[in-house]
Amino acid sequence: MATVKGDVHDIGKNIVGVVLGCNGYDIIDLGVMVPADKILDTAIREKVDVIGLSGLITPSLDEMVHVAKEMKRRGMTQPLLIGGATTSRMHTAVKIAQQYDNGVVYVLDASRSVTNVGNLLNKDTKEQFLKSIDEEYSKLRDDFANKKSAKQYISFAEAQANAVKIDWSNYVPPTPALLGTKIFADYDLKEIRQYIDWGPFFIAWEMKGKFPEILNDAHVGVEATKLYNDANALLDKIVNEKWLTAKGVIGFWEAVKIAPDTVVLKDTHGKDLAHLESLRQQIKKAPGQPSFSLADFIKPYTFGGDNEIKDYMGAFAVSIHGIEPHLQKFIDDLDDYNKIMLQALADRLAEAFAEVLHKRVRTEFWGYIKDENIPVEELVKEKYQGIRPAPGYPACPDHTEKYKLFNLLGATENAGIQLTESLAMYPGASVCGWYFSHPESSYFGVNKISDDQFQDYVRRKEMSVEEMSRWLAPVLD
Ligand code: SAH
Repeated sequence: MATVKGDVHDIGKNIVGVVLGCNGYDIIDLGVMVPADKILDTAIREKVDVIGLSGLITPSLDEMVHVAKEMKRRGMTQPLLIGGATTSRMHTAVKIAQQYDNGVVYVLDASRSVTNVGNLLNKDTKEQFLKSIDEEYSKLRDDFANKKSAKQYISFAEAQANAVKIDWSNYVPPTPALLGTKIFADYDLKEIRQYIDWGPFFIAWEMKGKFPEILNDAHVGVEATKLYNDANALLDKIVNEKWLTAKGVIGFWEAVKIAPDTVVLKDTHGKDLAHLESLRQQIKKAPGQPSFSLADFIKPYTFGGDNEIKDYMGAFAVSIHGIEPHLQKFIDDLDDYNKIMLQALADRLAEAFAEVLHKRVRTEFWGYIKDENIPVEELVKEKYQGIRPAPGYPACPDHTEKYKLFNLLGATENAGIQLTESLAMYPGASVCGWYFSHPESSYFGVNKISDDQFQDYVRRKEMSVEEMSRWLAPVLD
């Protein structure tokens, strides 16, 4: 098993490894960011029975297709298992299974991995199992082909004309108290810890249910409570013995919207720092529904006005450092439970760090809400004013805008975060995003776009069609 090249997340894969291990299978875990050749060379050398690939971010989908093609080219015979947050049965059927003839199986979660592998390794069931998967996936491919042609688009020009209508005439954009960047070299983990959203923690452990209700759940309550108590005991250690270090950087700049989907960020001397390009929804909407683009939340610039009013945007990148030696110790002790627990907690701390900084941005650094009275437990519902959309996620699916965010913040120097070739962030427990303050700013999904917007976007990005189609593959029809 391996997390594919360019991707850094492996909690789900580790859980699959543990579950299979408990069922008597030997697992060779190659870890994260593993190139196709290393996976396949190892599989051949070790004579493995099954290969499992994992991935969290969208560019990993392409890398999985590449591994499948390589397996075919090398004439391999082992079945290929596909799993991880960004993967799906549909993508596996449409894009991966077509590339390799000796079995490609999507695995929804760790509990399914046991039956799947069992079926694949049993000579009596293997053939029938793969045949039924093949039938299922071929039906999915038909559904996909039909659905595709049924999607209705409006033209890009119409979509731009259908932007979010905000009444700017009576709106004065709030000026950030802080302009330029601010670094947090070692943020207090005790404070961060209070902002942890425990919901995703149980999802990471593949437990279904809402927090805090899950602690008293009739079926999993006892297990969930044990997990929660163990997590807090480990957090005590992490905080008291300073196992980890929280590093972050935030920044605010003047935001000049020069076109419907283009915002230029400038420093206090009026120098251009970055041209941000956004993608706009293009699927036909119900009457009265706007075609969203993040640029809609920035005030349009009126050139040559005397009393020109400026708008602003911000960005952040935060990261939890120092996990490696502690992880290694758990690995040496063959303590999978605490290894996964520590990874899950580092992820939680990174998200909580983003939450506490965002709160301070609203009340202090941007300061557009001076007295926000939302209890900590309520913050996870994100009902406050303003958003922090993350590049690579539905409102801004183009991962390559992350280069600009990183340059603006100096995120590598100031927060110690590296970008992989797939634009995943390393350390894995890292979060970044843009800040918008407008009261009407909200999350949405760009969904699929059509060719007219794609061509316009390619031109604005000054990237080649080939490169851009690769990065935008998930939103291209
Ligand atoms: N409390 C959660 C926060 C992460 S999920 C946790 O601890 O895991 C919510 C975050 O995902 C948002 O703050 C935003 O950064 C990102 N996000 C959610 N919806 C998005 C969208 N449609 N587009 C871009 N980013 C989005």
